Amino acid sequence: MERKPVKSSTSERGGETLIFWVRIYAMRRLAVLAFLLFSSFARGSDLPIFDAHLHYSHDAWDVVPVEEVISILRKAGIKRALVSSSGDEGQQRLSRAAPDLVVPSLRPYRRRGEIGTWFRDDSVIAYLEEHLKKNRYAAIGEYHIYGADADLPVPRRMVELARRYGLFLHSHSDADAIERQFRQWPQARILWAHAGFDRPEVVADLLRRHPTLWCDLAFRTDHASGGKVDAAWRKVFLEFPDRFMVGTDSFTPERWHYVPEHAAWSREWLADLPREVREQIAWKNGERLFGSALRRSD
Ligand SMILES: [Zn+2]
Repeated sequence: MERKPVKSSTSERGGETLIFWVRIYAMRRLAVLAFLLFSSFARGSDLPIFDAHLHYSHDAWDVVPVEEVISILRKAGIKRALVSSSGDEGQQRLSRAAPDLVVPSLRPYRRRGEIGTWFRDDSVIAYLEEHLKKNRYAAIGEYHIYGADADLPVPRRMVELARRYGLFLHSHSDADAIERQFRQWPQARILWAHAGFDRPEVVADLLRRHPTLWCDLAFRTDHASGGKVDAAWRKVFLEFPDRFMVGTDSFTPERWHYVPEHAAWSREWLADLPREVREQIAWKNGERLFGSALRRSD
């Protein structure tokens, strides 16, 4: 008769011990979670990214299908991306599948291999006109044009089309070709691809003279290393915090798999800048410039 209460009190004590350890475990889990959240916030790993330089050309669909591209973008924390594709169909497929993610841009290229020939090819204009009538875009580009070639008839007519449709120009060019395009259309809004791979002083000079020039930093690494921003570039970023954007440049299909790594690398060096500047370059500039274009096309 005495055994029963003894047994019961043992199991009660056992239950209390169990609850005690469960509580300790839960508290430790909570502490670990809070630490992870805090450290990820401190590192800025939750910083949204506007990727201003992506391509999804006709040879990319089989290598990286549409669903995979969208999943890559979402997992990498890409808020939105300016996407173009040779042949245009690639970015159309992406836009249809994820209209909230893709800001469409129209390239003057129909297939690979036109980088060095398009600006002497009259049929490019008919191709652009046909697509501009059919679809909505935020920009024309990315295209490659250097020096005096920017003043040839085909690029000139392309700039006229951008003016007529109120579109950005995404220009992979030297400083000379950028200046020539501004002479053709002083109010042009130009996104200078890779900031022309030019030196920070040259980029700053152009930005000073052209209030409607912006730069993407795609495929360049000279502005930061080991999570530290280069001193000369820092000066330019602080003088023009509203003129830069990051971009991965998926110029070959395989580079789509590099998008998350590039976003992580961008967050790392951006963390070395003041918070407002970091956010502007990471996503606010892209969103301000291209977000409205996207809303118009909804
Ligand atoms: Zn590109």
